[in-house]
Amino acid sequence: MALIVQKYGGTSVGSPERIQAVARRVAKYKAHGHQVVVVVSAMSGETNRLIDLAKKIQSQPDPRELDVVISTGEQVTIGLVSMALLELGLKAKSYTGGQIRILTDSAFTKARILSIDEQNIRADLANGNVVVVAGFQGVDEKGNITTLGRGGSDTTGVAIAAALRADECQIYTDVDGVYTTDPRLVPEARRLKTITFEEMLEMASLGSKVLQIRSVEFAGKYKVKLRVLSSFEEEGDGTLITFEEDDKMEQAIISGIAFNRDEAKITVRGVPDKPGIAYQILGPVSDANIDVDMIIQNVSLDGTTDFSFTVHRNEFDKAMGILKNQVQKHIGAREVAGDSRIAKVSVVGVGMRSHVGIASKMFRTLAEEGINIQMISTSEIKISVVIDEKYMELAVRVLHKAFDLDQEDL
Ligand code: ADP
Ligand code: ASP
Ligand code: MG
Repeated sequence: MALIVQKYGGTSVGSPERIQAVARRVAKYKAHGHQVVVVVSAMSGETNRLIDLAKKIQSQPDPRELDVVISTGEQVTIGLVSMALLELGLKAKSYTGGQIRILTDSAFTKARILSIDEQNIRADLANGNVVVVAGFQGVDEKGNITTLGRGGSDTTGVAIAAALRADECQIYTDVDGVYTTDPRLVPEARRLKTITFEEMLEMASLGSKVLQIRSVEFAGKYKVKLRVLSSFEEEGDGTLITFEEDDKMEQAIISGIAFNRDEAKITVRGVPDKPGIAYQILGPVSDANIDVDMIIQNVSLDGTTDFSFTVHRNEFDKAMGILKNQVQKHIGAREVAGDSRIAKVSVVGVGMRSHVGIASKMFRTLAEEGINIQMISTSEIKISVVIDEKYMELAVRVLHKAFDLDQEDL
């Protein structure tokens, strides 16, 4: 007998029929003698609908009240899934995040889980119940409702699996695993049987939304056995996130390609090239709680230089305001320019540690397509470039082919 946490995403619970299919799958696991905790998202489209609704009342919704509104989608699904299980003759109980005390900090709309009271879940499981928990939501120590950021049900699933020391956490979604890149963009993308935890962490942080990054962090910290699977298929092993690199020996040097359009670039032109300038530019940005991602500074010929960095698009206007109003005059810069039509494309693979020439292959491939690289950043297992947004799809496709990730090459 195993203890299994199954998380079902929006499309997997998107209709009464899909909810009944979830119940049938759970019933199968119960019939094999396993204990099952089910974590669910809101029905597909529901969270977006709730956000739009909130914005009709307040164009910039109050974060506390926004969480009150957008957490409701999951509450509907837990009730419906429990009913579907009861209809199959199983014992089931649904719980909101608050009811099982998924305690978070108070950062509304992007809260972090601090602890989970797993005693009641264990008691229910011992009594033969399937426990159905609302993903994406928690409460802070004052009892305020919080949410965990978009895609946060993944994190609820993995955090519960960690708290219960479950044998496996299964993430059921609308694709049958983690692919070499988003199969919606590149039809030739191929499912990976395994991906290392480190690679998954990079893929998630660089834009592959198949798993929320915090869920991968939790899996790494608590060594949760994590698998991504399709809820639309009866069979299949999906993709297992592994903690060993040994089994990677036979595989490609690059495991995947991630991309996102979530960032915007800011360039401060004509900056005096002297000590303290980076701090004077980025200090006020960081004081405003804005995360900076990629940074470059050019060499100076005439004592002045250009300084560029990227921020999340949601924070672009705020960052531009700070630079124009507080920084530009203060440091004597010529101009502050912004560009939100950029995309970041990254190649990821632990094989980079033992192979040279990956960066040059990436740059050559992009050059052959006439794609200009605006910024570059690297780590041990990834290379990211910022390019014009209009070339993003082309870049991902040509890199996918160049690194032998296309399906037909297998
Ligand atoms: P859910 O609602 O089940 O949480 P998401 O939409 O959040 O599902 O995540 C699944 C989607 O992630 C897929 O439909 C796919 O388009 C996208 N995706 C992006 N990158 C990848 C990747 N490398 N492998 C698989 N899916 C990916
Ligand atoms: N329903 C939430 C969202 O759409 C959480 C999730 O689906 O994981 O972001
Ligand atoms: Mg998701």
